[in-house]
Amino acid sequence: MKLRSPERAFAFPGKTLRSSSKDLRNVKKTHKEAVTGTFTYHCVFKMEKPILSDYGTNYGTVNPVYGVPAPAMAAAPAAIIHGPSAPPANMFDAVPGYEGTLAGGGGGYLPPPMPSAPMPAPEQAPSSPNWNIPRISEDRAREAFATYVSSKCCYSSAPVREGVITNMEPFNTYRYRLETFTESRSTEWSQEPYTGQPVDAGVQPAPGPWQIAAQTPAFFKDHKQTIKVPYTSSVKNCHDCLGMGRNPCTTCAGAGNKPCWVCNGSGHRLSDERCTHCNGRGRENCSSCSGNGSCQCNTCHGKRQLLVFIKLNVKWSTEKDEFVAQDSSGLRVEKLGKVTGKELFKDAQFMVYPVRGFPDVSVAQASERLVGDHQVKYAQTSRILQQRQTIELIPITKVNYMWKGMSYVYYVYGNEFKVNAEDYPATCCCSVM
Ligand SMILES: [Zn+2]
Ligand SMILES: [Zn+2]
Ligand SMILES: [Zn+2]
Repeated sequence: MKLRSPERAFAFPGKTLRSSSKDLRNVKKTHKEAVTGTFTYHCVFKMEKPILSDYGTNYGTVNPVYGVPAPAMAAAPAAIIHGPSAPPANMFDAVPGYEGTLAGGGGGYLPPPMPSAPMPAPEQAPSSPNWNIPRISEDRAREAFATYVSSKCCYSSAPVREGVITNMEPFNTYRYRLETFTESRSTEWSQEPYTGQPVDAGVQPAPGPWQIAAQTPAFFKDHKQTIKVPYTSSVKNCHDCLGMGRNPCTTCAGAGNKPCWVCNGSGHRLSDERCTHCNGRGRENCSSCSGNGSCQCNTCHGKRQLLVFIKLNVKWSTEKDEFVAQDSSGLRVEKLGKVTGKELFKDAQFMVYPVRGFPDVSVAQASERLVGDHQVKYAQTSRILQQRQTIELIPITKVNYMWKGMSYVYYVYGNEFKVNAEDYPATCCCSVM
């Protein structure tokens, strides 16, 4: 059997993909990078677009959502007089790097630049955590049970007083939680009445959306910020009032007056008496425009001109996922959502590494899966700033007790000693003699 040369082997997938010139281009590019020695880890991802060396100038075209021509603009309701309306598309100058930016947002989030340096080496999980499983005493269980029953207005306390605990089984379950703190950015064309703000469009090239400095809040604190993109502000005549500063009044259709409501426009009452409200004119001044026939333009607030600029929306948010290990206690997993446990492991850093060597394999697997999921889900459209993962041990005690010759069960769980007793035998006070 003949071995293919590396070039041939590489060229082969290109042939099968000939139907798509985009794919072919990518294959070629990857190949070129491979032979010139610049092949980096980002090639392992299935690239749908060419890798760009400079993200500062190409955001608009990279984002698939932004690549679509702007239909929102054509549908701008310019005819609506009340309330600021979206300006027509020709009001926006071409700004390199912001080609797909729409008025009113809706363009989707901008992909962040690739990290220039490889990820810092992740730290390993501490190898010997403290695996003590807390046990609760019979007294503690009984006390929690009594508190629970007294919180239910109709429950009789007889089973608590008379019931005899026959067995207490401790169960432990683990909750793994992964939180990813992200920053995402999107742009939109925006406007405000022009009152002498700085006008800087074209003075120099606008910085890329990810090159603009924003005030990052503390990690895991959700926050929003909007920033005027520098060098995109220009002054335009208001499209709404055509630079007049006023629009025809919609109440009187520009007349300044309307039929008198008392005489209905006739000028006199049922008898021949003159209408005193309109002095026989049959019309009265329009109160909406004080008789002027026009109102101040809502878009430019009467300033006749608008400052038109690109607005950058920056959003910081915490994305959270949890996994609770199966346990055999019989208590439903949803019950654990409201309690806390004992924190066994906590790890916060720029990018966490999946937990390794944890005694419960399902927790380690969940960590592996969720860390991978978060990278796929959030690294594409946002920048991951910090990740945090914790493992909690949630204590669950299953208490078996006898009351009136029958056996029942309740659970005490969480740091809060919450109780669940679904088969409580005396849920109505009147059923107990
Ligand atoms: Zn009248
Ligand atoms: Zn009017
Ligand atoms: Zn206006």
